[in-house]
Amino acid sequence: MSASQVVPPTAFFSEVAIDDAVERAGQCVRPVRLRGANLLVDTRTGEVHERYSSTNELDGHTYVRCGNRRASVCPTCSHEYKGDAWHLLVCGLAGGKGVPAAVADRPCTFATLTAPSFGAVHGLRQKGPCRARRDKPVCVHGRPLWCGRRHHQHDPQLGQPLCWECYDYLGHVLWQWHAPEVWRRFTIALQRRLAAKSGMSVTAFRKACKISYSKVVEFQARGLIHVHAPIRLDGPDGPDGSPCTLALTTSDLEDAVRHAASSVRLDVGPLRDGTSYRLAWGRQLDCRSISGEAGRDSERGGRVVHPEQVAAYLAKYLTKATEDFGLPARVRSVSHARIVGASPHAVRIIDTASRLAREGEAYARLRDNLATLGYRGHPITKSRAYSVTFGQIRRARRAFARDPGLDPSADIREVLDDHADVPEGFELVSSWRYAGRGYLDLDQAASAVRSAAISRTREPGSHSSAASR
Ligand SMILES: [Zn+2]
Ligand SMILES: [Zn+2]
Ligand SMILES: [Zn+2]
Repeated sequence: MSASQVVPPTAFFSEVAIDDAVERAGQCVRPVRLRGANLLVDTRTGEVHERYSSTNELDGHTYVRCGNRRASVCPTCSHEYKGDAWHLLVCGLAGGKGVPAAVADRPCTFATLTAPSFGAVHGLRQKGPCRARRDKPVCVHGRPLWCGRRHHQHDPQLGQPLCWECYDYLGHVLWQWHAPEVWRRFTIALQRRLAAKSGMSVTAFRKACKISYSKVVEFQARGLIHVHAPIRLDGPDGPDGSPCTLALTTSDLEDAVRHAASSVRLDVGPLRDGTSYRLAWGRQLDCRSISGEAGRDSERGGRVVHPEQVAAYLAKYLTKATEDFGLPARVRSVSHARIVGASPHAVRIIDTASRLAREGEAYARLRDNLATLGYRGHPITKSRAYSVTFGQIRRARRAFARDPGLDPSADIREVLDDHADVPEGFELVSSWRYAGRGYLDLDQAASAVRSAAISRTREPGSHSSAASR
C-alpha cells in the first residue's frame, strides 16, 4: 500500500496497525522509528527505482529493534542477544557455522580471574555460616568482624562489607577502573610464559601459536567484576588453519594462566593526596577443562565442563550488568543512585568513583561509568580469531529470513550483508531519518511488552534464531 492509498484509522485499521507495527519491530519493547527509503539507482542511466520505503507501511514508519542486551531494558532484544552470544561462544568452543569442529581438540581451558579482596564482605558459603569466628572479634570501629548467619541467594546483605569504614573503597574503584589494563597485561604475560615454556622468543612463538580467547565479565555481589575466559591455543592462522605444532598441552596452558595471573602488577598513582596502589589479580583463580564428553548438566564446581554449559553460563551474565545493585542503565550522580534505591555499598562505590573523577583527566571518564560501578570495558570481548562475530550472526539471521532456502550448514562468515543482492549495474542508496523512539500508541507498546514477557521464559539453548538453523 502506498502513502496515497492510506485509509482513515477505522477500528479495523488500528487493530491491524498495532499487530503490524509490533511484528515489524520484532516484538522489541522500545524500537527506533525511521522514515525513509532504499533506492536502487541505475549507474548508467541514473534512473531511480524504489526498493523499499517506509511509506509502504500502514503507519508510515519503519521500525528498527533497539538491540539492547540488558533484559531490564528490552526482554525481547536481550533474549536475542543472549542467543547470539550463546552461538558465538559455542562456535568458538566446539566449532560450527563455519568454525571447524577441530577447534574442540585444541588445548583449551575455561579460566576465571577474580579481583582481590578490599575488605571482608557477607558471602554465600557452601556450608556453615557466613563468617564463623569463635573469638567474635570487632574492628577498630567496633563493628563485628564475624557473621553467624547463613545468607540465602537473594539476601540483600550479600556482598555488603562487614564494616564500611574498614572497606577500601578507593582500592576497589581503582582496581575496577583499571581492570581492562590488568587484563591486557595478563594476556601479554600469558604469551610470554607460553613462549618461555616452548623455549622460544615471543616473536617466534607468535609465528607458531595464536592465543584465541573470549572474555565475559560478571558483576559479583561485592560490586567487582570477575573475568571468565575460554582460552584456546591455535596455529598461526587461528581456528581455520592447521593446529599449533608446539608441544603444548591443556595442562601447560593452565599452568601458564596461573603463572601469568599471579605475576601481573599495575602501579597507579600517586593521587593528589599521595596515595599509590599496586593492582593485581585476586588469589582466587580457577581453570576448568572444556570437553564435549562432559555432561551438559554436570554440577557446578566440576573440573570438566561441556561447551554448551560454558556458553549458557556466560550468555546469562551478558544480559545483565548491575541491575542487582538497584542501578538503572545510566547513573548521573550519587544522589541519583540513592533516589533509585541502590544498595548502601553501591552508593559508596559511586561516591568514591565520583570523587576520584575529580582527580584529573585520567579519571574524568569515571563519571560516565557510574552505572557499571566504574567498569569501563565491554561486557564481552574476544581475540580476532576466536569465533564468528555478532555482526556475522546478525547478518546471517537477516539472510536466512529473506531466503529460507539457504544451506543451514553454510559458513556464516561468508554470508554477505544486505547489499549483496544488488543487481549488477545498480547502486543501493539509502536515506533514513530518525522519527522517534517507541510505538505510536499505548496498545502497540502493551502488545510488545506482552510478547517480551513470553520471550523471557524461553532458554537460549532453544533459541530459534535463523543463524542457528
Ligand atoms: Zn528491543
Ligand atoms: Zn554475613
Ligand atoms: Zn571497621
